[in-house]
Amino acid sequence: MAGILPSADVILGLVELYLLVYSQPLPLFLYNNHWCYIILLIFRERLGMTNIQIYDVKQNKVVTVGKIEKSYAEWKNLLTEDVFDITTNRGTEPPNTCLLGEVKESGVFKCVRCGTDLFTNSAKFDSGTGWPSYYEPISPLNVIEKNDNILGMKRTEVLCARCNSHLGHVFNDGPPPTGKRYCINGLALKFVSEGKL
Ligand SMILES: [Zn+2]
Repeated sequence: MAGILPSADVILGLVELYLLVYSQPLPLFLYNNHWCYIILLIFRERLGMTNIQIYDVKQNKVVTVGKIEKSYAEWKNLLTEDVFDITTNRGTEPPNTCLLGEVKESGVFKCVRCGTDLFTNSAKFDSGTGWPSYYEPISPLNVIEKNDNILGMKRTEVLCARCNSHLGHVFNDGPPPTGKRYCINGLALKFVSEGKL
């Protein structure tokens, strides 16, 4: 009789799979189960469903979302050539080509690839560099900051936390209150006014 009953590991694995598919946060006890942890890693890898927490402006709270991971070929199909070059190949748009600096109304600059809320217009300032510049992101949860020593320059790259899109770089010569300057490619962003969030 015992032979035909699924083991506790299998049952927990199925529960976990169900929760993963429906993007629910996983109960902590699952992490303590060795087999479930392995199943978790396999399914998250296969389904591209690593969960992260980001701040959502419209809901005014931190939410759990699935990480978006696509291949170069998939992004190439989805994006225009210049957006692909910047967001996926870590390119840089020519300065003074982006009109987002002219935006005056309240609203949110979102990730052009996945729609994650990245910067508010109220955190934007005129840096004189020719690229949209902000003194802080909407939340540290929504961006990844990573050392970038390409081209022999020590810089800090800024990426979207949900889809790893290359956004630009952050420097320590910004205005108060943070002293930071997030120098961002306009082509990596889309603006949504407050009323349309
Ligand atoms: Zn994104």
